[in-house]
Amino acid sequence: MTESHDLPSASTSTPPRLSKSKYLSGLQCLKRVYLEIHHPQLATAPDASTQAILDMGTEIGELARRRFPGGVLVTAGHRQREAALAYTAELVQDPTVSAIFEGAFLHDGVLVRVDILERVPSQEGISPSWRLIEVKSSTRVKDVHLDDLAIQSQVLLGAGLSLVSTSLMHINTGYVYEEGEVDLTKLFTIQDVTEAVTSRRAEVLGQVAAMKTVLLQSQPPAIEPDHHCHSPYECPFWNHCTKDKPARWIYHLPGSKHVVGRLVEQGIATIDDIPAGSTLSLVQRRVKENVEWISAKLGPALRSVQYPVHHLDFETVMLAVPRFPSTRPYQSIPVQWSNHIEQESGELVHQEFLHSDPTEPRKRWAEALIESLGEMGSICVYSAYEEAMMKQLVEAFPEFRSAFNAIIKRLWDLHPIIKDHYYHPAFQGSYSIKSVLPAVVPSMGYEDLIIREGGQVASEYYRMVFVETDWIEQTTIREALLRYCARDTIAMVELRRVLEKKAKGIG
Ligand code: SF4
Repeated sequence: MTESHDLPSASTSTPPRLSKSKYLSGLQCLKRVYLEIHHPQLATAPDASTQAILDMGTEIGELARRRFPGGVLVTAGHRQREAALAYTAELVQDPTVSAIFEGAFLHDGVLVRVDILERVPSQEGISPSWRLIEVKSSTRVKDVHLDDLAIQSQVLLGAGLSLVSTSLMHINTGYVYEEGEVDLTKLFTIQDVTEAVTSRRAEVLGQVAAMKTVLLQSQPPAIEPDHHCHSPYECPFWNHCTKDKPARWIYHLPGSKHVVGRLVEQGIATIDDIPAGSTLSLVQRRVKENVEWISAKLGPALRSVQYPVHHLDFETVMLAVPRFPSTRPYQSIPVQWSNHIEQESGELVHQEFLHSDPTEPRKRWAEALIESLGEMGSICVYSAYEEAMMKQLVEAFPEFRSAFNAIIKRLWDLHPIIKDHYYHPAFQGSYSIKSVLPAVVPSMGYEDLIIREGGQVASEYYRMVFVETDWIEQTTIREALLRYCARDTIAMVELRRVLEKKAKGIG
């Protein structure tokens, strides 16, 4: 059984109202919807990357509405439910209103806010019909979107509206922005999903009934955390649900969820319980062995660098709404680099670049980078990303092709060297620099930084360049971006130094 019975009993005299987001939580896990409603304080707050995705979704929603001139927004927030319902009812009755944005509808204890409800003109005396349109910043239709639309259409039909179609409005990555205003007819694709949503709607009543039954219980259902907690969304109760699990819990084994699933079926609860001879990948074997491992070839691999060694990292932004000519939605645009240059004597020089204004960043970024890297020495990176970005850039700026081709030949990737020749138990199966750095160089990590992960870079860069007008705030963000990128490159310097010592048996 779970920790469930430690929780104070929920007040369950009447079933609480559901919303569409609660319904989707309930489809993922009945315990999740229960905790969201009765014990929301147990959730972990969204991290900066998740918040950035939510903020981007808000901007997309506002742009999508501009495709429907004459539409009216229901501004009453989620805490003003009655006002939102009353105003929406008024707009439904007003034939001059061509579309309703964020309209509120309630049926059978389920409240939904509808992104766009477009009125379909009808003859006098005949009730209007409507097009239901859900807006997503995603680039394609996903299963969870169909469930989202299924609960919305069920509520709208229950509330007496007539629907002619149901669509998902999402980002069109085929759109190439040129100049001036963004072309909203090309930025968005409106995909009719009426048939798929209609077939899902058959399940909605049963699902809602199951959720209401669970919500009336005094304790959450005894559901064990596993892979379902991460799809379609990361569950915010993961830390709560796993707080009593052992440090070497079997779900911490990296790799295929089928392998973990098979082990769980065999009754294996921890990584240490995995029987010898089980079929495991190399990384899984390292995690199971749980000891530091240094290959005899680590030293020669590290010593294959040529001095001066450049330690290079790029930061890119992927904007849902393209801002620079000849770019597409979500195209990676390089805006920043950091280069720590180490001489054979150990002397270290740091050079960096951050494009800080709303103009096209790539040309100046490339020119400064080529100058910084010069023509001598290895260029240490920590993934194949830098190479991919340079290849992408020369497609748009062929004048840099020969310089970048020469730079690419000097790339020296530390990531596969560590993966092939070194393991530390604190990696816990992950070779990302965020896991490797604090394990190998315990005095260095990312916790002291304002920006601690790549996902935060895009939103902070966007805020600095396109939103903030306060120069003090712009300067604060700029400093945070520079410190984050510089940490990635000094990390590679320190990793090389510490690993060299370990290879010599003095670390
Ligand atoms: S962490 Fe998993 S088990 Fe716990 S509430 Fe979330 S989805 Fe359900």
